[in-house]
Amino acid sequence: MSLVHLEPQNRIGHWINGRLEPGAVLRTAPVYDPAQGRAVREVALAEASDVERAVAAARAAAVEWADWAPQRRARVLFKFKDLVDRHTADLARLITLEHGKTLPDAAGEVQRGLEVIEFACGAPYLLKGQHSHGIGGGIDHWSQRMPLGVVAGITPFNFPFMVPMWMAPMALACGNAFILKPSERDPSASLLTAELLAEAGLPAGVFSVVQGDKLAVDALLAHPDIAAVSFVGSTPIARYIYETAARAGKRAQALGGAKNHLIVMPDADLDQAADGLIGAAYGSAGERCMAISVAVVVGEVADDLVARVRERASRLRIGSGLTPNVDIGPLVTAAHRDRVAGYLDAGVREGATLLLDGREGLPADCGEGFFLGASLFDHVTPTMSIYRDEIFGPVLCVVRVPTFAEAVALVNSHAFGNGVSLYTRDGGTAQAFVNRIEVGMVGVNVPIPVPMAWHSFGGWKQSLFGDHHAYGEEGVRFYTRYKSVMQRWPDSIAKGPEFVMPVNK
Ligand code: NAD
Repeated sequence: MSLVHLEPQNRIGHWINGRLEPGAVLRTAPVYDPAQGRAVREVALAEASDVERAVAAARAAAVEWADWAPQRRARVLFKFKDLVDRHTADLARLITLEHGKTLPDAAGEVQRGLEVIEFACGAPYLLKGQHSHGIGGGIDHWSQRMPLGVVAGITPFNFPFMVPMWMAPMALACGNAFILKPSERDPSASLLTAELLAEAGLPAGVFSVVQGDKLAVDALLAHPDIAAVSFVGSTPIARYIYETAARAGKRAQALGGAKNHLIVMPDADLDQAADGLIGAAYGSAGERCMAISVAVVVGEVADDLVARVRERASRLRIGSGLTPNVDIGPLVTAAHRDRVAGYLDAGVREGATLLLDGREGLPADCGEGFFLGASLFDHVTPTMSIYRDEIFGPVLCVVRVPTFAEAVALVNSHAFGNGVSLYTRDGGTAQAFVNRIEVGMVGVNVPIPVPMAWHSFGGWKQSLFGDHHAYGEEGVRFYTRYKSVMQRWPDSIAKGPEFVMPVNK
C-alpha cells in the first residue's frame, strides 16, 4: 500500500471505512503554515451525513473486532508501533508544517504517542479478569472487561499525534472501534496515522477520521451508537462535551485547560530552576497543557531568579520549526498570536511589570509568520487576568510570595489543577508539597511531570471533567465495561427454588 499522507495534501478529507474520501465538502476551513503566515491547504468540515457513515462503518466493524482474541489485536498494534517508529520523521514534519513547533519537539511528541501504543500492545495482560474459585454452592465467580462498542475521540491542535494516541491504541486494544475528530487546525497527521493503522492490518471501519468543527462534534455527541467520548481541549469546550455526552447517556472523559505553577524555594539550585522554567514556559511556544505559565518564587531569591530567567529568555532563538537550532516556533494561527499578545497589554494595564515583550526584536526572517517571542511578567498578583486565565503562549508570570504555605495556598486556590512543580533540596518540604497540593500531576525538581504510558494522565478541578484519567490502566477502565460472572454446573444446584439471600454459613 502506498501512503498518501507522507506529504501534506492540498485538500484534506476524511478516512472512513478503510479509505480516504472527500466527504460532502459543503464547507472547508483553511489550514495555515504558521511559519509563513498564510493558508496553504484546506480541510473538509464534516456534515452530519459524513459522521453517520463513519459511525455505520464503525458499528459494522466493531462486532468482529471485539471477537478477535486480544493477542491478535495486539499484533496489529505491534505492527503499527513499528510503522510509527519508521515514519517518525514523516509524522514530525507534518506536525511542524501545520502546528509550527520545532521538528525535534514534534519528534518527541511522536515518541510519547508511540509509548502508549507500546503499552496497549499488552492488551492480553491488561484485559485479564479476576477469578474466584468456589465462592459457595459450587459456583465460580470472575470478572471480564468488555468493550463498549463504538467510541469517539475529539482532540486539540497542540498535539495532533500524541493526544489521539492517548486514546485510540487503548480503545482499539480493548476491542472498540474508534472515531477520531482531530483539530481542524492541523489535520494531516491524523490521516497518516489512519494509513499506518491500515498498513498494520487493522480491519476497515475500526478506526476512522472525521475532519470537522462543532457540527461534527455535535453529531458524534448526539449519535445513539457512540458509547463513549474522550475529549482533550480547552475548559469551556471540555465542560460542554462532558455535560452533553453525559446527558445523552454516554461515558465521557474531558480533559481541559491549565495554568501550571512552578514553585521555587529559597534553597533550590537557582540555575536548575531557571533552566526548568525556560524549557517548560517557552518550549513549543507555550502551547502545551503542561507548560509552566506561573513561577511562584518564595522568599528572598526572587530578584536573583528573575534575573537568571530574563537573561536566558532573551537569548532564545525564534524561527521556523523546520530551521535547525530554533527554540521557539510560531503560534498556530494569527488569531491565537493576537490573543496572546492581547494579554501582554492586559498585564501592563493591570499593573504587572513587563520585563520582556515578545513582540519586540523578532528576527527579520520571521516575515509574516505568526511569531511571538518569549515574554516575562514580574510582580503578578492573583487577581490579574494574566494570572487567572490560560494564555497558551510563550508568556511566563512571576508571583512573589513570602512562605511555602502561601505558595501552596496560591496553587490550591487556582481554578485549574493540571500540573505543578516544586524546586527544592529539602525532603520535608517536598513531602509536604506532594501530600498537600491539589493538582493531578506533580513534579519535584521535574518541571513538566507528564506521566509515562503505564501510569495515567489527567488533572484535577477545571482541568478534567470525568472520573478517568487518560491512558494507562485508567484508559483500560474507561474503554471497557466491567462484567461480573457467576457460573456453576447442574450437578451442584440444590433442588427447588430459593427464597432467601444465599449466604455461606
Ligand atoms: P479547543 O477546545 O478549541 O478544541 C479542541 C477540540 O474541540 C477540537 O477538535 C475542536 O475542533 C473542538 N471544538 C472547538 N470548539 C468547539 C465547540 N464550540 N463545540 C464542539 N467542539 C469544539 O482547544 P485547542 O485550542 O485545539 O487546544 C488547546 C487547549 O487544549 C488548551 O486549553 C490546552 O490546555 C488544552 N489541552 C489540554 C490537555 C490536557 O491534557 N488537559 C492536553 C492538550 C491540550
